Amino acid sequence: MEKRTELDKIGEFGLIEQLTSSFTNHHKSTILGVGDDAAVIDCGYQYQVVSTDMLVEGVHFNLAYVPLMHLGYKAVIVNLSDIYAMNAEAEQITVSIAVSNRFSVEALEEIYSGIKKACDLYQVDLVGGDTTSSQSGLVISVTAIGRVDKDKIVYRKGAQENDLLVLTGNVGAAYMGLQMLEREHQIFLENPEIQPDLAGVDYILERQLKPEARKDVIHYLHDLGVVPSAMIDVSDGVVSETMHLAKHSEMGCLIYDEKLPIDHETHRVARDFNLDPSTCALNGGEDYELLFAIRQADYDKIKDSEHMTVIGHFTEKGGSLNIVQRDGSLIPMEAQGWNHFEQN
Ligand code: ADP
Ligand code: MG
Repeated sequence: MEKRTELDKIGEFGLIEQLTSSFTNHHKSTILGVGDDAAVIDCGYQYQVVSTDMLVEGVHFNLAYVPLMHLGYKAVIVNLSDIYAMNAEAEQITVSIAVSNRFSVEALEEIYSGIKKACDLYQVDLVGGDTTSSQSGLVISVTAIGRVDKDKIVYRKGAQENDLLVLTGNVGAAYMGLQMLEREHQIFLENPEIQPDLAGVDYILERQLKPEARKDVIHYLHDLGVVPSAMIDVSDGVVSETMHLAKHSEMGCLIYDEKLPIDHETHRVARDFNLDPSTCALNGGEDYELLFAIRQADYDKIKDSEHMTVIGHFTEKGGSLNIVQRDGSLIPMEAQGWNHFEQN
């Protein structure tokens, strides 16, 4: 009998590994392939970085409550975020879409108005893409291309013993925004007469629907003369991303629960939902903040920044990965990030 392995047996990362591990590179210019936020290509005196992300209707977004313009904007942002996570400057994007005749020209123009907004704000150029039909939902795939000086590139690997773990902005907000949108949508489905009650939650809704990428932080670090020893963007949650940094760097790591930056609105709504705000901050996804390691010697340079919080540090080589809870006890980090193939 032919062998058949179900996708949910190996998970997303297992699948990528299984599909790509037999490939070898043919070019010296391929500095880094699969496995980081972006691929790294030697293009002369600088490195070029390339990253792709796909958004699929019904998996990544629900058009019942995601405005088309926001969708276009977010599709660009999530890709730029991966470029900034390499400490690079994003310069170009390509955009590919698959659409069914359920969508009008005007609807697609709405999506592109969001794409244009992001291009204008982040100063990136739309340079191509592909357009095709789809039998079911809408698919948007964006590729982003950037550049960085060779001595400034930052990978997921590179964190050293005693490096500080630094997080930009605050976390858990996009996740709470999604919970709020999902709840109001369910209420609407059950009773279309009831208007959604979204008063007082503007911040978390904006974090979910119209996230920003931390280009400002890349510039800020550059101006301070700080090059992180390792970096990743927070798409799947702080714990999941910290585990990537630690694994790639082969270092142990501690996160201090009490240090997690949580906005007061996120905190309040989490409580309303009977959720632990810390859990939302540790495991909620889609904040698109940057998470990076810096040498202790660089601490003085960043300590006054309102953008950055030290949430932990790397321990010894091969050490364990733990969260220090408020009572001082340790719990092991466990990735709660999205696994696309897991059955609910
Ligand atoms: P991110 O969360 O930063 O978008 P992913 O988890 O999507 O990164 O991907 C992890 C790594 O695997 C990246 O280097 C990505 O380019 C690569 N990758 C993902 N899917 C595929 C695929 N189908 N074929 C080849 N490489 C892939
Ligand atoms: Mg990433």
